[in-house]
Amino acid sequence: MNKGVRKEPSMVKQKELIANHFTRLSKARALGKKVVYTFVPGNLTELLAAFDVLPVLPEINALQSGMRKLSARYIAEAERAGHSEDVCTYVKCDIGMGMTGNVGPTGEPLPEPDLLLLSYTGCFVFMKWFELLRERYKCPVAMLHVPYQGEGVVTPEMTAYVVEQLKTEVIPKLEAVTGRRYDEARLRAALALSAKAEDDFVWVLDSAKNRPSPIDAYFGGVYYIGPIFTAFRGTAEGADYYATLRREVEERLAAGESPLTPEGQMGREKYRLVVEGPPNWTSFREFWKMFYDEGAVVVASTYTKVGGLYDQGFRHNPERPLETLAEYCMGCYTNLNLPSRTALIEKYVRDFHADGFLFNSVKSCNSFSAGQLLMLREIEKRTGVPGGFIESDLVDPRYFSEANIKNRIESYLQMIEQKRRGTTEFREQSAESPAVSRRERNGEPDGDGGRTPPIPPKHGGFREPT
Ligand code: SF4
Repeated sequence: MNKGVRKEPSMVKQKELIANHFTRLSKARALGKKVVYTFVPGNLTELLAAFDVLPVLPEINALQSGMRKLSARYIAEAERAGHSEDVCTYVKCDIGMGMTGNVGPTGEPLPEPDLLLLSYTGCFVFMKWFELLRERYKCPVAMLHVPYQGEGVVTPEMTAYVVEQLKTEVIPKLEAVTGRRYDEARLRAALALSAKAEDDFVWVLDSAKNRPSPIDAYFGGVYYIGPIFTAFRGTAEGADYYATLRREVEERLAAGESPLTPEGQMGREKYRLVVEGPPNWTSFREFWKMFYDEGAVVVASTYTKVGGLYDQGFRHNPERPLETLAEYCMGCYTNLNLPSRTALIEKYVRDFHADGFLFNSVKSCNSFSAGQLLMLREIEKRTGVPGGFIESDLVDPRYFSEANIKNRIESYLQMIEQKRRGTTEFREQSAESPAVSRRERNGEPDGDGGRTPPIPPKHGGFREPT
């Protein structure tokens, strides 16, 4: 962050929360705490809190390592040990970190797990990842099979199926590992705190409907999701963080201020964008600056829904403790089918009055990237708003080509500008643009100056989500 850029209380608070969590983890054995490794999408944080165990989230370690420029070394270690270049880089970063001493991103050692809790099975990679960790740590695994929302809905039968597994698989294993009995009153109390934090979080996300938006819902948004998607949902500290964040955003909104970025306060809001896909972590600041330089503010993003879709109405409900956990597991963004994801992005474009929507297709993650081009074309067709497409990766710096991405973003925003002015000249202009598309690099014709790779018209027309 530039010198002179003010740090808001929520930023300071979050930094402390995370630092304290890693310190607690490093002392877990001395404190007599049990440790559970688990994942972000639809996780069971409140249940873990009810058993007083500390969660470790390997994806968070990987992205933190990416931001701290440690991931390239870990990925190289994993590749030397035989992991293919095509494997998700979160996995390789975590494996490499484990091979080099399992020192966490803050420099403190991470404890070994007492249990591996696989609470999301929508991505097959998660299962293979935990197989590798099981080999290393020889510890028990609790696996929760989470049905995919193939038909675009969560049925009562699906909820009952997950609740049954919570009762017969997850809770008994947590009881065995911790030596404690399942305490439903404690779970309910944690769920009530979750719902409070979720209300404030949704208010913050919705504030981006204003002009200018007081937040950046992608680059800023990934900080906002930190506590709620990790160890702090269901805690008083987590609820306090979101109350603080909300107050800050209320003040910015009342003052008509634009988002705070590492470069300083955002200037005039020239473009309002929706972004689909995870950010690149190794060049996160450079990536954000590309938007800052152009006056582009992200008003909604799908990545901030990777843990769950609170903005679409979901709240943890203490009156239905196990059912609500089950529904949360099934409701995370990558567990939605393509028609539902398409409809969601379309809704964001309309609700947040976006000028455009941009897909960041990351090489590592098929859960996000598969079908993105189809979605892009369909959303363009439904909204008449132009889509843009860039490619990078999560934590492998070899796949962040700064000049290419910058060129593509600039020419995409120019195209929006042209469209705004109502000229018909943008095609000629973008043909002269320095942007180089994937198809052009491959020597294939690209009729729109690299704006988006073309999809044959026969692919168009998703079924509406049921
Ligand atoms: S492929 Fe995607 S969803 Fe699966 S583990 Fe990697 S980043 Fe997560």
